[in-house]
Amino acid sequence: MKIHEYQGKEILRKFGVTVPRGIPCMSVEEAVKAAEELGGPVWVVKAQIHAGGRGKGGGVKVAKSLEQVKEYAEQIMGMQLVTHQTGPEGQKVRRLLIEEGADIKKELYVSMVTDRVTQKVVLMASSEGGMDIEEVAHSNPEKIHSIAIDPSVGLTDAEADDISTKIGIPAESLAEARQNLKGLYQAYWETDSSLAEINPLILTGSGKVIALDAKFNFDANALFRQPDILAYRDLDEEDPAEVEASKFDLAYISLDGNIGCLVNGAGLAMATMDTIKLFGGEPANFLDVGGGATAEKVTEAFKIMLKNPGLKAILVNIFGGIMRCDVIAEGVITASKAVSLKVPLVVRMKGTNEDLGKKMLADSGLPIIAADTMEDAAKAVVAAAAGNA
Ligand code: ADP
Ligand code: MG
Repeated sequence: MKIHEYQGKEILRKFGVTVPRGIPCMSVEEAVKAAEELGGPVWVVKAQIHAGGRGKGGGVKVAKSLEQVKEYAEQIMGMQLVTHQTGPEGQKVRRLLIEEGADIKKELYVSMVTDRVTQKVVLMASSEGGMDIEEVAHSNPEKIHSIAIDPSVGLTDAEADDISTKIGIPAESLAEARQNLKGLYQAYWETDSSLAEINPLILTGSGKVIALDAKFNFDANALFRQPDILAYRDLDEEDPAEVEASKFDLAYISLDGNIGCLVNGAGLAMATMDTIKLFGGEPANFLDVGGGATAEKVTEAFKIMLKNPGLKAILVNIFGGIMRCDVIAEGVITASKAVSLKVPLVVRMKGTNEDLGKKMLADSGLPIIAADTMEDAAKAVVAAAAGNA
């Protein structure tokens, strides 16, 4: 799960990380009021969306007067902000953060991630803040430093000072950097984060160390014990199809293609998408209906896929192990009727109650294209999506 920058900064502040004073706002009026409350002379108007790269996309603006705060708030609120992380259609801005302007001397980068190889939380840091870390990793990998933190000890003073020195924090600011890094580690650890990134962490003209941006991802499997984090969830920022699917416990991810996939099992779902691509098609979604799906769940899955206006064809690919083919058939028939299916539907079924499932589909009167192998099914659905059914 992702959260907004202002929420990330709330968490950081709680754990002793220095962040600028700021107020989140839901309207231009609130933004102007927030700026008055904060006092000048410099404010930053920041779009709050669940994506980075806002600065480059025009979603972060420095204002030098209340009039400018209003002007920028009007520009940014409601805009369709396009960044390299949003996709070409962008994300609508519904919230702003009005923040005091900081005196930036140097922009640095720090983050925490869980490293599966060492099975430890890794602190990464770089002197090259404010830009994409992927770019730094590509062009100047020697400028990225990292430490795997021993969970029984936590981040030590020596480790914090060592990495701070490597990224160019001067001796007189080490104590402050140490407090920030330790706070970041504690925040990461106690909230069940999977990513905590401060880009940029800045050094000010007077030697202060401040987190100017905050990005957190959380382990969805731990949210049951993180009610405060769960309360930060903003459904406006999530794909509506994925939100709907999660209500029915369906693993659904929207993709850019036009071939809907309904599959049981994540591995088979991946293989199905690969096979579609192999034969020149593009999947519209990843969808794993799970092992114990009911006809109702399959119906819902079908409805969610069919809401996609770009959908040109559907491939149902089922291996009936725990899941029975007749249950899938029932779901497909019910859903097709409920939504009056208008796109070609290719079905491949193997396994438990295969014959019964196939018979139910054949008897349903629905214009279903039956396929026997993965290859046949993929070829058929790619042809159908291209209008050659
Ligand atoms: P994003 O990473 O989405 O572009 P950031 O919060 O990192 O958004 O902001 C982009 C840039 O804007 C920062 O690298 C920094 O140079 C500047 N900036 C952000 N917040 C402030 C602030 N409070 N004061 C001064 N400059 C800021
Ligand atoms: Mg940033």
